[in-house]
Amino acid sequence: MSLQIYSKKRNFENTPEPSDKAVKSKSKLSFVIQRHKSSHLHYDFRLEMDGVLKSWAVPKGPSLNPKDKRLAMMVEDHPFSYKDFEGIIPEGNYGAGIVELWDHGYLSDIDNSEKSAAEKKLKTGLNKGILKFRLFGKKLNGEFALVKIKYKQKNAWLLIKHNDEYAVNENYNSEEHTSAKSPINKLLLKEQASILQE
Ligand code: MN
Repeated sequence: MSLQIYSKKRNFENTPEPSDKAVKSKSKLSFVIQRHKSSHLHYDFRLEMDGVLKSWAVPKGPSLNPKDKRLAMMVEDHPFSYKDFEGIIPEGNYGAGIVELWDHGYLSDIDNSEKSAAEKKLKTGLNKGILKFRLFGKKLNGEFALVKIKYKQKNAWLLIKHNDEYAVNENYNSEEHTSAKSPINKLLLKEQASILQE
């Protein structure tokens, strides 16, 4: 049901993205953050619930500084298998551009309950518009919240790091935590070079 919008937006004969076969992870819930260079560079923040990935597009990327409130626009659910997707979405397709993994790992509720209890609490938070969760990733760890806000656009949330042992005081720019080998960075360098030549 919830993947209808995802499937409607895509033609799986033309994009390498996974189709909507629902699968679930076994003992723990998963999260993934993908860096996506389409018409704009943004980060896609995805949390597993009910066998799909609840998804938000975060234009400025996540932050580990609790003072930052990063706008996160909720988008359509993505299939669970999307958590491993990296690659090029060809021109003419929805979201055409480059997708690369930025961070991934496990997701839980704040109390780190076992999977089914955690999932229940996360879904309650999601429905209330105050979703508190804990990440166990390579770059992002500890407590976070997604808070739904009233904004000119619907589906606007704020992504906020809670103050815990993983929080930082200094400025946090997710762009400074990308891989040197990143295909997106290579493309951005090329674009900069061509602008300088003009
Ligand atoms: Mn995206």
